[in-house]
Amino acid sequence: MSKLALLGGQPVFDQPLQFNKIWPPVDSTTAQRLQDVYYSREWTAFHDVEHRFAQDFADYHGAKYGVFMINGTVTLQCALGAHGIGPGDEVIVAPLNWYATAMAVRHVGACPVFVDIEADTLCMDPEKIPSAITERTKAIMPVHAYSSMADMDRIMQIAKRHNLKVIEDAAHMHGGIWDGKGIGSIGDVGSFSFQHSKTMASGEGGICITSDQDIAERIYRSKHIGYRYGDPPRRPKSGPPRGLMCYNYRAPSFLVAILENQLKTLDSLLARYASNVNYLEGRLKETTKIRFQKPGRKAERQGRQSWAMIFDAPEYADIPPAIIQLALNHEGIDSVLPVEGPIYSFKLFNLGPEEYRIAHPCTVTEHTRAHGVILLHPYLGLERPVIEKIADAIEKVHRHAEDLKTHARKLDTSEAFAF
Ligand SMILES: *Cc1c(COP(=O)(O)O)cnc(C)c1O
Repeated sequence: MSKLALLGGQPVFDQPLQFNKIWPPVDSTTAQRLQDVYYSREWTAFHDVEHRFAQDFADYHGAKYGVFMINGTVTLQCALGAHGIGPGDEVIVAPLNWYATAMAVRHVGACPVFVDIEADTLCMDPEKIPSAITERTKAIMPVHAYSSMADMDRIMQIAKRHNLKVIEDAAHMHGGIWDGKGIGSIGDVGSFSFQHSKTMASGEGGICITSDQDIAERIYRSKHIGYRYGDPPRRPKSGPPRGLMCYNYRAPSFLVAILENQLKTLDSLLARYASNVNYLEGRLKETTKIRFQKPGRKAERQGRQSWAMIFDAPEYADIPPAIIQLALNHEGIDSVLPVEGPIYSFKLFNLGPEEYRIAHPCTVTEHTRAHGVILLHPYLGLERPVIEKIADAIEKVHRHAEDLKTHARKLDTSEAFAF
């Protein structure tokens, strides 16, 4: 039984896997499409190229309208702004995993209120929402995190009872289906990101989907300096409603040219991910004590931005996730990262204590951060023999838990990734 590569042994992979060799996907159809857009000179957001993609993406997720933008943070901001949410209002957000959700609430001048997550799905815990609601609360903004979905049935029930809007942050959940409905189409607005690390990736990019025509129009005006959908450049037929903040969050049409083929192949990508996750979890449940994030309770098809492993069995006590990350990195898997969170402890999170509220101690988020690592989704699409070796590497870490424990204090974890 060879030593961990971290401690001088032979790595499982002779040739380390490299994220930037397998992601983002490239193909000749897309290369041709990019060239066509280039020669068409239709590079701005005013053309059919963008409108067609936005409609296709909305249709695919079961919503009526789609508004494409430059990233998946301003989409959240515009969704909030379109509902008139602003200074003096509160919005309920989850403390795991990316701080865009909470920051977007601040970007409209409202106050993010953190509600803890469920231990199994790692998504916002509906049980804990009611006690966080005040007379200022205007919306709930759950994140469908990693490879799971927030409990939309219960969140929608609570929202209805308290007359709140629901904005789904589906940045991780392209193609997810909850109880027959496309993810992002259940709440008032769904927001997706096409940033480099997401399941559909164009470097940067984002989209809002909704079935409310008035909200779609307000979101569109917000991202396009007040223009109404369909207005020709330089000839707006009407101005935006008073009080609606409008910005230039337009994206160049090259982004949608990159995404067109990815939308066509999303079904097969998610099928491949599901099959490999099934294999990995089936095998590792027998051979290790790792706990895996549960899929959405009513997920008919799970989207995946990453695959989360929780090392919280007694066997792994005193092994920080940064050490597990390093051990797996040394075995040849570069894209294992510790679970990020809570958001309000990020170095990049610069809000003062008067600008946000933590509704109650977020102990489940803290526990998940103390024991969780994620593997980014592109690896889940690799050929089965590679997936088998990924499982070998994880089993190796499990078998050497004692060594990791002994060395945990001595090891330099400064290479480990942290926001
Ligand atoms: C990536 C991400 C976003 C949006 O990020 P952008 O980089 O601005 O596109 C929003 N929420 C979550 C949970 C994310 O992971």
